[in-house]
Amino acid sequence: MGMSGLTALVTGATAGIGRAVAVQLAQEGAEVVVHGRDAERGADVVAEIEKAGGAARFVRADLADSSDVLRLAEEAGDIDVLINNAGVYKFLPTSGMTDALFDLHMDLNTKAPYVLVRALAPGMARRGRGSIVNISTMAASVVTRGTGMYSASKAALEQLTEVWAAEYAEQGVRVNAVAPGPTRTPGTDDMDAATLKAVADTTALRRLAEPEEVAEAVVFLASDRASYITGAVLDVIGGRPAIG
Ligand code: NAP
Repeated sequence: MGMSGLTALVTGATAGIGRAVAVQLAQEGAEVVVHGRDAERGADVVAEIEKAGGAARFVRADLADSSDVLRLAEEAGDIDVLINNAGVYKFLPTSGMTDALFDLHMDLNTKAPYVLVRALAPGMARRGRGSIVNISTMAASVVTRGTGMYSASKAALEQLTEVWAAEYAEQGVRVNAVAPGPTRTPGTDDMDAATLKAVADTTALRRLAEPEEVAEAVVFLASDRASYITGAVLDVIGGRPAIG
């Protein structure tokens, strides 16, 4: 997709969807800044990319801490492609949600992307090109019991996607979101099999996505192949089953 010469920052690239996106962006020729907290898994992703002939480096940062988010932006340098992927999802009814978990969802899923866009999009605008893809979720638009804070933090991210698309369109920066359905990742591996099957059964395809299937959509939106797409939220949800 013609990404050589571009530098991409992928947050949460040490696992799951972020890791698959980082690997695919590198295959398309981008130099990838692999972000996460776990340095060992970060080094593993960098090694996988380098072994395939690509270029990558790891930067560690805790995105629940805004000063660390800013440090990540500084250490990443000039970024052409930003993938806001790192996220947290704890499913609890409102009565069980603590203030600390409320803050964690907002800090990681909404504020960290906000701080990164505020820090990195002006540079893209100055250089006259850039692409940002925010990873949302099916739960941002489908009412589900127990996902309130997660859904709200990602619905805010979808709204910001449209606002940022409008703010930066004339400066050559496109901003889109991908809303995945249930996907097999280390994050969902923690869930019990019956719950995962029940969620997979809410899709028309009746199965979980693999991270690589979600990454295909993310990399497409990030690339110039999607040059007339901005402000969009692309559902990668395996289809909704019909009623009846
Ligand atoms: P995952 O397997 O749980 O991996 C999470 C990634 O985020 C890891 O790389 C982790 O890095 C990083 N991360 C977590 N907390 C962090 C923190 N405080 N600071 C910095 N990095 C942190 O995630 P996933 O399932 O692939 O999900 C990725 C994105 O897709 C999330 O935004 C999620 O909401 C969204 N999504 C997932 C699904 C799904 O079914 N899996 C469905 C819809 C949307 P370290 O481990 O190195 O800290």
